[in-house]
Amino acid sequence: MGRLTKYVLNHLSRPTVQRIAGVVIPAAGLFMRGRRVECPVCGKRFRKFFSYGYVSSRSGALCPHCMSLERHRLLWLWLERKTDFFSAPYRLLHIAPEHCFLRPFERLFGEKYVTADLESPLAKVKLDVQQMPFDECEFDVVICNHILEHVEDDRKALSEIFRVMRHSGWGILLSPVDYGLEVSYEDPTKTTPEERREAFGQPDHLRIFGRDYADRLSSAGFIVEEIRATDFLSADEITRFGIATDRIHFVRKL
Ligand SMILES: [Zn+2]
Repeated sequence: MGRLTKYVLNHLSRPTVQRIAGVVIPAAGLFMRGRRVECPVCGKRFRKFFSYGYVSSRSGALCPHCMSLERHRLLWLWLERKTDFFSAPYRLLHIAPEHCFLRPFERLFGEKYVTADLESPLAKVKLDVQQMPFDECEFDVVICNHILEHVEDDRKALSEIFRVMRHSGWGILLSPVDYGLEVSYEDPTKTTPEERREAFGQPDHLRIFGRDYADRLSSAGFIVEEIRATDFLSADEITRFGIATDRIHFVRKL
């Protein structure tokens, strides 16, 4: 990643970065005209996706139009092909809403779409995921991506997500997982941004999830299913849609 990008990510707040990116990236996308890759989220085609990544730059990662990443495109395709997400009148809680999903989800669910975040101005409700101001069983579907590695107590956050989800409801809980690690790595003595960057790879990360990630989700009471791109996409589609090795963690509450 370029020095300028790293400086911006380290020194500006997430909402500010999102606002700047929302103007700069689509403008730069004009130089990516072509048809080789396709973003299922916004439906646009390009010569290639932009490179992007905090720790190291990944080629073919970022959609020049809606700013979806590999995991967002994977999730979109899975929701479209394997669930009734796009046709059911769900009441949806979307924690830390991703920019690329906001408009399409708003169009789909209208008033039943609740966005929530600790700081993002994109979200309707300001909250801490470890203590949410919602009633038990209030939501049919909960989406919470790349948050559990940021919170002090991920078990508390998971029990809250479980509480606000209705019975027979379901959710998507994506987090970065290091599959080379057997057990998730945490160390509460690492408290400064520098220490956390050194230990967990990012100044705002509090842990690195390992292969026990799915078990941690199960411990909260969920039935967990781990889905890979190859489970439902062809090799050609994986290339065309710019999908990486991310897995989807699909959870259900009985
Ligand atoms: Zn897109």
